[in-house]
Amino acid sequence: MHKVKNKDVFKASWTYDKAPESTDHIQIKKQYELFIDGKFTKPIKGKYFDTINPTDNKKIASVAEASDKDVDKAVKAARKAFKSWSALTGKERGKYIFRIARLIQERAREFAVIESLDGGKPIRESRDIDIPLAANHFFYYAGWADKLTYAFPNRNPKPLGVVGQIIPWNFPLLMASWKIAPALATGNTIVLKPAETTPLTALKLAEIIHESGIPKGVVNIIAGAGETGAAIVNHPDIDKIAFTGSTGVGKYILNATAGTHKKLTLELGGKGANIIFDDAAIDQAVEGIVNAIFFNQGHVCCAGSRLFVQESVADLVIKKLKDRMKTLIVGDPLDKNTDIGAINSKKQLQTIEKYIKIGVNEGSEIYQPKCKLPKHGNWCAPTLFLNVSQSHRIVQEEIFGPVLTVQTFRTISEVIEKANNTPYGLSAGVWTDKGSKIFHLTQKLDAGIVWANTFNKFDPTSPFGGYKESGFGREGGLHGLKPYVKFE
Ligand code: NDP
Repeated sequence: MHKVKNKDVFKASWTYDKAPESTDHIQIKKQYELFIDGKFTKPIKGKYFDTINPTDNKKIASVAEASDKDVDKAVKAARKAFKSWSALTGKERGKYIFRIARLIQERAREFAVIESLDGGKPIRESRDIDIPLAANHFFYYAGWADKLTYAFPNRNPKPLGVVGQIIPWNFPLLMASWKIAPALATGNTIVLKPAETTPLTALKLAEIIHESGIPKGVVNIIAGAGETGAAIVNHPDIDKIAFTGSTGVGKYILNATAGTHKKLTLELGGKGANIIFDDAAIDQAVEGIVNAIFFNQGHVCCAGSRLFVQESVADLVIKKLKDRMKTLIVGDPLDKNTDIGAINSKKQLQTIEKYIKIGVNEGSEIYQPKCKLPKHGNWCAPTLFLNVSQSHRIVQEEIFGPVLTVQTFRTISEVIEKANNTPYGLSAGVWTDKGSKIFHLTQKLDAGIVWANTFNKFDPTSPFGGYKESGFGREGGLHGLKPYVKFE
C-alpha cells in the first residue's frame, strides 16, 4: 500500500502573467455566405444567424443559414462536379488535396485563433493539436489518392458519388478535415455542414479550398442548424452520409437512411474508461487522467470520463489528482497559459450543470478546486465525483464537459466488467507497466480505441471509431478510405 503524503507537490509560488495570443493577423468577415459550386452565394431564403464568442456570448459574425433549397442547390452542384472529379487520375486529385494541406499550414495561426474565438478551446490546443492534425489529415489522404488500388488490391475501388457530411462543434476544423480529405482522395464530391455554434473555421476552409483551384462544385460548405443537417440526410440524390455528433441524432439519421441506397457512418458519443493499475507510473497516469478528461473542456467524444483506479493506489492517485487540478487555469482561451477554456455554448453549460446537480443529488462526493472563473461567458471548473457507483447517471450518461467520475476496483476481471458496463464503446485507456496486461485488456474492452499509458492521442494513419451506441465505421488510416468506396 502506498503511503499518502500530505505534501502538495504542485504547490509553487509561481503565478502567471497574461500571455494573450494576438488577434491582429486574423481576418473575420462581418458576414459569411454559403460556399456552393465554387462561389460564395447568398442563402435563397435570405436568412442569417449569429455565431457567438462563448467567453462573453457576444456576436462574432453573421452566417448564412442554408435552407432545404440551398441544400438542393449544393447537392446538384456536387452531382454535376462528380462526373469530371471522379474521372481525374488519383495523382491529379492528390495535387489539390496537398495544396489544401499546405494552405492550412500557411494560415495555421489564423485558423487557431479563429477556432479558439468561435469555440472556446485553449489556443494551446487549437495551435498545437487541432490545426496541425487537420493539415496532417489532408497530407495523409493526399498520399492515398493515387494508391487506392494498393489500398484495396484486386478490388477496383470506385467512388460512391455525392457525400453529405455533418460535423459537431467540439473539433470544427479537425472534423471537417477527417470528413473531407478521405472523400476527396477517393473521388467523391461533398456537401458539408458545420455545427451552428462553430461554423467559422469550416467557412475559412472553404476560402482555402476555393484558393486551391479545385474544380467548382467538388466541395460545398453550407452552414445552418439541425434542419439543414436533416435536409442533407433526407436529400434523395446523396449517396452517403458521414455524421459525427450525439447518439440521439445518430439514431435519427440511422432511421432516416434505413431502406435507402445511402451508405452511412456514425461517430457518436462515448463514456471512455480510463483504468489505472497499481503498477502504473503514477505521476504520468495523473497527467494522463487530466489530459483524458480536461482536454478541450471535456467536449471530447472519446474523453476518459470514467476513471477506474486499483484500490491499493486509489488514495494516492486521488490525492495527486486533486493537487494537480488545483493548478489548472480556467479562463481566456486566447491566453497561452490557459488549460481549460470556455464551454462551447450556454446550452452545453446548462447540460453540464444539470449533470453536476444530478451527481450531487445522487449522493456522490463532489470536488472542485477553488479557481477564479471569469464573470461573463460560459465556464465550468474541473470537477471530480467520488463515491459513485455503476448505476449513477453521471457514470452512465455522456456529460461532454470537464466532469470525471472516480471508481475503484480490485481485480482485472472486475474492472473489465465495470468498464464494459456502458451503452457506449468508443475509447478506453490502460495505465500499467505490464505489456501483457495491456494486450489482455485491449482484447477484452469493448472500445474502438484503447490507449496504453497515454490518452487522447490522434494520428491520421490510425483508424478511429466505435462500437455499440458509439456508432460504426472508421475514420483515419487505410480504414478511413473504405466508407467512401464501392467495389465492382
Ligand atoms: P448534435 O448531434 O445535435 O450535433 C451534431 C451535428 O448534427 C451538428 O452539425 C448539428 O447541427 C447536426 N444536427 C442536429 N440535428 C440534426 C438532424 N436532425 N439531422 C441532421 N443533423 C443534425 O449534438 P449537439 O450539438 O446537440 O450536442 C448534444 C450532445 O451531443 C452533447 O452534449 C454531447 O453529449 C453530444 N455530442 C457528441 C459529439 C461527439 O463527437 N460524439 C459531438 C457533439 C455533441 P447544429 O449544431 O447546427 O444543431
